[in-house]
Amino acid sequence: MTCIFCKILNKEIPSFKIYEDNHTYAFLDINPKTKGHTLVIPKQHSENIYDTKENTLKHLISIVKKLSKIIKQATNADGISISQNNEAAAGQVIFHIHFHIIPKFKNKTANKYKEGEAEKLANKIKTLL
Ligand code: AMP
Ligand code: ZN
Repeated sequence: MTCIFCKILNKEIPSFKIYEDNHTYAFLDINPKTKGHTLVIPKQHSENIYDTKENTLKHLISIVKKLSKIIKQATNADGISISQNNEAAAGQVIFHIHFHIIPKFKNKTANKYKEGEAEKLANKIKTLL
């Protein structure tokens, strides 16, 4: 069985892509904590931080940094939370390592996209890169 995120990489499942390079892919979370919630994954499958190569992690975190600034700008967030869950007990649901980039707002904001809004935001983020 191929994992969901590998299926996204293979375009078997659609996603709102915001960034891609030879080793990395980033896309909007389907069930966002806030609008702009993004997942950053390596193209090479590994489950979590334990089995991911150091070089892969180094590259991933550099992309997380780059995207954090852009996502903050695109969403007008007041802050950005970064998280990464390892094993079910820690809340990991998808066993393909990923970093969450979650915009945070001083005031409560809607966390559901209206029709077309996710695509629009993904495009806005891409133009700021
Ligand atoms: P975690 O709990 O750290 O494993 O996070 C898994 C994340 O993947 C959750 O925030 C889900 O909303 C998200 N997710 C699951 N399926 C998809 C999908 N097809 N496209 C985008 N995000 C997804
Ligand atoms: Zn995978």
